[in-house]
Amino acid sequence: MPLKTSAKINNELNDISNFSDAAEKILIVDDEKLHQYSLKELMTKNGYNVDCVSSGEQAIEKIQQENIGIVLLDLNLDGMNGDDVMQFISDNNINTTIIVVSGETSFEAAENSLKHGAYDYIRKPYSIDNLLNSVGNASKKRQLEVANLKMHAQLKESEKLHRYIVNKSPDIVYILDNKGRFTFINKRVETLLGYRMKEIIGKHYTELVHEEDLEKAQFKFNERRTGKRASINIELKLRCKNSTHPRNFDNRILPIEINSVGVYSSHDTEENKKFIGTYGIARDITDRIEAEEIIRFQAYHDMLTRLPNRTLLNDRLNQALTHAKRNKSNLSVMFLDLDRFKVINDTLGHIVGDHLLQAVAMRLRHCLREGDTLARLGGDEFTLLLPEVKYRQDAERVARKIIKSLKMPFKIDNHELFISTSIGISHYPEDGETMESLIKHADIAMYSVKGNGKNGYQFYSNNMVNDFSHNLSMENDLRRALEGEQFRIYYQPQVDIESGEIFAMEALIRWQHPERGLISPNEFIELAEETCLIKQIGNWILQNACAELKRWREAGLNDVRVAINVSAVQLEQNGFVDFVLNILSINDIPGKYLEIEITENTLMHDTDNGILKLRELSNYGIKIAVDDFGTGYSSLNYLKRLPIDTLKIDQSFVRDISNNDEDSSIIKAIIAMARGLNLNIIAEGVETKTQLKKLKSWRCKNMQGFLLGQPMPSDDTLVLLKNNENNRMSIVK
Ligand code: C2E
Ligand code: MG
Ligand code: MG
Repeated sequence: MPLKTSAKINNELNDISNFSDAAEKILIVDDEKLHQYSLKELMTKNGYNVDCVSSGEQAIEKIQQENIGIVLLDLNLDGMNGDDVMQFISDNNINTTIIVVSGETSFEAAENSLKHGAYDYIRKPYSIDNLLNSVGNASKKRQLEVANLKMHAQLKESEKLHRYIVNKSPDIVYILDNKGRFTFINKRVETLLGYRMKEIIGKHYTELVHEEDLEKAQFKFNERRTGKRASINIELKLRCKNSTHPRNFDNRILPIEINSVGVYSSHDTEENKKFIGTYGIARDITDRIEAEEIIRFQAYHDMLTRLPNRTLLNDRLNQALTHAKRNKSNLSVMFLDLDRFKVINDTLGHIVGDHLLQAVAMRLRHCLREGDTLARLGGDEFTLLLPEVKYRQDAERVARKIIKSLKMPFKIDNHELFISTSIGISHYPEDGETMESLIKHADIAMYSVKGNGKNGYQFYSNNMVNDFSHNLSMENDLRRALEGEQFRIYYQPQVDIESGEIFAMEALIRWQHPERGLISPNEFIELAEETCLIKQIGNWILQNACAELKRWREAGLNDVRVAINVSAVQLEQNGFVDFVLNILSINDIPGKYLEIEITENTLMHDTDNGILKLRELSNYGIKIAVDDFGTGYSSLNYLKRLPIDTLKIDQSFVRDISNNDEDSSIIKAIIAMARGLNLNIIAEGVETKTQLKKLKSWRCKNMQGFLLGQPMPSDDTLVLLKNNENNRMSIVK
């Protein structure tokens, strides 16, 4: 029988379902009826299922229609003879066994039949035993063949199934040889790591492991335990082909061993086992690990700035305290609060506010060393832990650095923003020995800075106690203050020292608190702004200061003007311009006798809306002054766009005049600039004669300060102004 081609095997495989275990059918092909009959008798008697035909054509028809196991074929037939039938069967890959039963006695005939694929050649007249033997053998052989084919098909099916299972596995499945090189890896490696399967085969596993985990991997892969403990679990980072980010895998590895007879074994009782490699499954747990990391991060961080939150800060602070106690070392805690952040947030919106906080966090981070912890506790409050600080001066240095770094303007969403911060510091162990007391004292120190005009730092001291402004009840008190008429306006003269004339009085608010006495605006203006109470308070001042001006004018003092501080929140409110104009008209005051002071920082934050309002006020002759000038970063261009009349040089520059040349040069520059822009200039906070003289020598003649007059209650103003009219130079002394 010729060798089976693969096409034939496939064909057979397809036919496999047609094979049954029942006795196969035998087809007798003989044109002699008598022969047919006797053969049929014989076969039937021996348990075969028999069919008969008399010609080659009929035989072929039958074979095509039915599943015929064995054909007993006569060669000499009319028409299509036996050879033709065999040729047909062979040409059409028909699975049937042919036994030629023929009267041909020549050797060639027999040889020819066998060549054509006949299984046996039996001569007529046949011996019954011979024939039965041959049929019996052919039948057995066929049964074996069928069993073989079935097994083959099952194996192939099973192979296909296993390959499918392995490749469709969500995990990477692999086998390493005893040197640690890949001999097998499933298709999953392509989707998870981006390598082709072919690329991996032959590679050493260490080439796939990320360097961070290399040592761990080598240790575990070499461990090679046996028995129940043979399976090892190990988390590993694996390299990806097209990314620098490794992915995380949970690996389960198992040594592969064979025993002395070459059987894969896993029982530790067997001896003489040989290690031939490693079987491994790697499950991608990157997403889970990332999710866990995010959850852990969220639990300990503020999501806006990505800084540590209160929980993490407490944790670190506790650790640092334990360390400091054990080593008798020191540490510092700082409490930072941004000055007037609320105003920016309210006037420019939360998105700008959020972006500003992020930018502030970034700058603060640059001021720190590695072991320091900067946390955001919410709002505009930050806390800083300096665990490595020995001396107070070290903490001071950090505070100064922070203040300086926040001084540069922030560019946020097309706004140029200026911000400052108040910092309270507590030092371990002098200012507290517990976490709570250190934080609380840093907090109190911070409020003390706020109370003293903001933008600075201070260490905690016992006499700060719990500052009033820190008290939650202050807001309620502030509301009550308006109704209870507890606010007072003090007036401070602004003097032209060349002529001695008081050309203006600045209205400065005071709070006459029933228990605490006179409170400075530094202690409550910010809260008033935050709670928007400043609108009512500010309007109250506008009304009363203008009424006061009217009183002066009625007393014949017609040239003096009043300067009133206006905060951004106030300017922002609807109808502000009309409100001001209305007050002026009620009191019969021309616009040019009112000056509105806006701090430089407010101006810089201001929206187009605010600028529009200032321009409108200016159109009515009302004067606009920039207060605390020099503390921000106004550019010349910016100033030119605004309807400004006066620049007020901030008192910090004046204070340093006598001993600091750098600040003096700033003042000189401001004066020169003001002259260039044709602006008036007033120096604030003039306290000494030296300051006055220097300012005068720089041709700054307008001044305000304790040297020329303290802020005074309104009752005293008329007397002062009258005296000044009569004796101008007395105020300059
Ligand atoms: P400002 O507008 O720059 O006012 C000048 C501050 O300097 C006043 O403090 C004044 O008393 C003080 N001062 C004047 N001369 C000297 C001096 O020679 N030496 C020193 N060391 N200080 C001097 P005050 O009255 O405590 O006001 C503080 C700030 O509070 C003001 O600064 C202003 O920004 C704000 N403020 C005051 N009244 C009002 C108000 O009615 N509305 C608003 N929105 N803010 C106000
Ligand atoms: Mg002012
Ligand atoms: Mg000022």
